Amino acid sequence: MYIKFWGVRGSVPVPGKETIHFGGNTTCIEIRPSDNSLMIIDAGTGIRLLGLELLKGDFGKGKGVAHVLFTHTHWDHIQGFPFFMPAYVGQKDASGQRIESACNLLNLYGSSDVDDRLEATLRGQMEHFYFPVDLNYLNAAIKFHPINAKAFNVGSTKVIARRLIHPNGVLGYRFIDGNKILAVATDCEHPGDGMIDPNVIELAQDADLFIYDAQYTPQEYNPADCGLSGPGKKGWGHSTPIEGARIARTANVKRLILTHHDPLHNDDMIRSMEKLAQEQFPNSTAAYEGLIIEF
Ligand SMILES: [Zn+2]
Repeated sequence: MYIKFWGVRGSVPVPGKETIHFGGNTTCIEIRPSDNSLMIIDAGTGIRLLGLELLKGDFGKGKGVAHVLFTHTHWDHIQGFPFFMPAYVGQKDASGQRIESACNLLNLYGSSDVDDRLEATLRGQMEHFYFPVDLNYLNAAIKFHPINAKAFNVGSTKVIARRLIHPNGVLGYRFIDGNKILAVATDCEHPGDGMIDPNVIELAQDADLFIYDAQYTPQEYNPADCGLSGPGKKGWGHSTPIEGARIARTANVKRLILTHHDPLHNDDMIRSMEKLAQEQFPNSTAAYEGLIIEF
């Protein structure tokens, strides 16, 4: 499997000199399994750069096929979609009908269990109040696939989806490609009291690569746990590097990747959070824009 991170930030894009190393774009991960089909996790602002890269190949000629799997529809996971240039590539006939053989095809997946409004939400953010181009005017063919089953196939890859802990819910994914396993669990909170969400374990068990939400330091998450006072971020739907390391050990994963970095965290801060995870689980890496992993 080939994995590339195009956006690793949570909440809101944060460009600037303090975030140059890890990057400022919001969530987008490219996945290429062994059959080379293109899967994309989320359409945060990182998908804009991925789209420009894709235009150099089949997507520039209206011959591309992509599968975009949404974890949920919060802003940092959908806002890049209107700027994904492959969505604009395709030919229409004189009556305005798409010529299927000359149009990119975008398959968009979302959970009916988490949010049955994926289509309405993506359409909504392109209404003229927010954006000049309506979704209907995109030249690419767009197909919505509500995820009703707990497992389905994209090409030869088996995909398992589970609802995780986040306000209004979120989907985590496990990708099984032959004997290679990738697990993605972003925008998820741990249940607390030393518990681990059994759905996260199910996704992560024996994974070669486990991508996990590590937005907050333990102090930010719950100051009281660290002997501090003040309000924390408990209940906001995110987790910590320490929890990521704990799950990685429990689920026997080979490598842990921390993502969904907080907009308040500069490069130095994220490096220190990476170190925190490495103390508990040495094969941990904080994701950065452009990070490529092959296994
Ligand atoms: Zn998010």
